Amino acid sequence: MDEHLTARCTPSSGRLKYLRHLHQVPEIPKSELARLEEVARQYPFRTNTYYIGLINWSEPKDPVRQIIIPRREELNDWGSLDASSESLVTVSHGIQHKYPHTVLLLCNEICGGYCRYCFRKRLFMDGCNEANLDVREGLRYIADNPDITNVLLTGGDPLMMSTRRLVAIFAALREIPHVRVIRIGSKMPAFNPWRLLGDNELQQALQMYSEPRRRIYLMAHFDHARELTDAAVEGIACFLRNGVICVNQCPLIRGINDDPAVLADLFQQLAWIGCPPYYVFQGRPTAGNQPYSVPIVQGWEIFREALRRGSGLARRPRFVMSHKTGKIEILAVDDTRIYLRYHRARDEEDRGRVMAFRRDDAAFWLDDLDPWDNEPPMFEPSPLLEMSDGLL
Ligand code: SF4
Repeated sequence: MDEHLTARCTPSSGRLKYLRHLHQVPEIPKSELARLEEVARQYPFRTNTYYIGLINWSEPKDPVRQIIIPRREELNDWGSLDASSESLVTVSHGIQHKYPHTVLLLCNEICGGYCRYCFRKRLFMDGCNEANLDVREGLRYIADNPDITNVLLTGGDPLMMSTRRLVAIFAALREIPHVRVIRIGSKMPAFNPWRLLGDNELQQALQMYSEPRRRIYLMAHFDHARELTDAAVEGIACFLRNGVICVNQCPLIRGINDDPAVLADLFQQLAWIGCPPYYVFQGRPTAGNQPYSVPIVQGWEIFREALRRGSGLARRPRFVMSHKTGKIEILAVDDTRIYLRYHRARDEEDRGRVMAFRRDDAAFWLDDLDPWDNEPPMFEPSPLLEMSDGLL
């Protein structure tokens, strides 16, 4: 990891230090430590002194604590490590290509902290080699496929890479004329706001490579308004000042933001700071994530109620499931049915399709649902739906 990041922090960040062992967190009761260390041997623990300082330890259900401190229930037998079968769309080492216009480069295998509910936690586990720090093959793949207009740098967290490597990737992508949007999927604005604030070279690179007709987007990841500290807000302002478009995406997580008031507060504050909510994800049934999972129907009710409470800019997110067949929007639930629609689809014939399933309040994922009346659940998309799919 880039431990040298600490050296780049501005004085206001202090000497932010990364923590990789639970015994470095004195607030964890000794009686709990051994059990939680067992969890962390399976699903690694990582945080830093700034982020852990956001925890109110007198509050057992503190949201930041839930995000970063392991729980024993993670060892419950549940889910799989690759719950949406990313292996099926991995076209080469560290390159995922699911939708025609967008490619993912998994260019780093660590993050500023490890969210306990991470759907890609397999990357941090021993023996995993899915990310590829060498992006040359990915760049060749993108250059050879003119349909690719969007490149998402992900992992792991790309902002944990050195500035030198990041700038080299931006420069190489800008040499490919058909690449318009570079997305940076990152939780560093929450984990370490000084990553950008303290790095003039990176700020200049963002300014240079986020061009008026070819923007860089930050796909930020704030889960709870508690993470929107003054430093984090200043960090987002710094992205904006340097020409980056900011949006937020986060999962709906039990014990963290599964409350309409909490979610509405997050949406509003994100809109106010110029990082409006984009997607809210239904949690994937990932191994270790049972304690963080919310059933689809409950999630939809929370999401719908949160939207009702916000003004327009805070009401823009879609509630979606990243299923192996595509990105599926949860449209509505009534007394008997759940209505879904392919927002993005791996197979062209699924694009824009609306589907109805038997309502099941215990279901967590598409694969748990039964089609309505056991009929094939697909409806042909109306021209209007096709049009809106193309526009959004
Ligand atoms: S920042 Fe993203 S990739 Fe990293 S641990 Fe959290 S959810 Fe997973």
